[in-house]
Amino acid sequence: MGDQHSTVSVEETAAKIQAAAAVTVLCHVHPDADTMGSALALAIALHRAGTPVQVSFPEPHELPRSLELLPRRDLVVPPAALPDAAELLVVVDCSSADRLAGLSGQIAASDTTLVIDHHRTNTFFGDLHYVDADAQSTTVLITRVLDALGVEIDADIATCLYAGLVTDTGGLRWANPESLLLAARLLGTGINGAELLRGLMDTHPFAWLPMLGAVLGRAELEPAAACGLGLVHTVVLHTDVAGVAWEEIESVVDIVRTSAEAEVAVVLKEQGEQRWTVSMRSKGLINVAEVALKLGGGGHAAAAGYSATGTRDDVLAALRSVLG
Ligand code: 5GP
Ligand code: MN
Repeated sequence: MGDQHSTVSVEETAAKIQAAAAVTVLCHVHPDADTMGSALALAIALHRAGTPVQVSFPEPHELPRSLELLPRRDLVVPPAALPDAAELLVVVDCSSADRLAGLSGQIAASDTTLVIDHHRTNTFFGDLHYVDADAQSTTVLITRVLDALGVEIDADIATCLYAGLVTDTGGLRWANPESLLLAARLLGTGINGAELLRGLMDTHPFAWLPMLGAVLGRAELEPAAACGLGLVHTVVLHTDVAGVAWEEIESVVDIVRTSAEAEVAVVLKEQGEQRWTVSMRSKGLINVAEVALKLGGGGHAAAAGYSATGTRDDVLAALRSVLG
């Protein structure tokens, strides 16, 4: 296990990757566009350089429909097809080992685990860590690594990098200057950014609409919660999501968070009998990553999450006690 002293520079990160004879790249459980875009961009570059490389993510090994827009998914293999031990394991966009779920055993088995991530709550669970919490997506960090390697950013790589960049910045809504400059550079390769963004963020099956109707209909506002700054929450029940894939539920919190009266928005997503995953968003006054850490999860100051057990009311009570 490493610690903060195992932080490496972008040049050291690039040198480690360049020196590897074979590389396995792992994404977090329930992969999103940032983890998969990061993994595929790196894998495409390595594959092109002749380095054997495979990308994988933990079970359930179902790629979200929206990520089918990404190129070279032939580089993605199911967990069972991975070698038992990798020479170099690169883990992208994961703040802690538990984000690798059933694949976390790969860390101890590999010669070296290199973590590339942008979560402030990163636990430094590998051997080497290129972690920069000021980067708005892990694909920003992958771009820096590819630049250090002298890799040409072609349309395939740009598509992967752009996918992570736009989704982690809310469609560039809160993009900082570095992110906007990168967006311009990636669009300069000729990729169709508008089409990609629509497919990644603004496209859902029709069944999403009635699901949303049910879930938004039970939203509740608690003005006194979150130190009097207001909390809005709702639950997504198993019965709401028949015919809707898990990734379609992720955007519910983006609608709930628009409530003017609440600093914090929370969506409880039912995973099974009294088992939940929780998505939290804030508008900047409350650091929800700290809240998530206290509840066993992690994330960013304005977007964080954790897993919880108990009834809906148990989970909300525990959350209120941490939120204040
Ligand atoms: P989301 O609400 O979109 O699932 O997650 C928001 C942020 O919180 C993401 O950056 C994600 O990495 C983090 N996050 C969500 N759930 C968990 C969790 O169970 N553990 C940790 N460590 N981070 C989480
Ligand atoms: Mn990310």
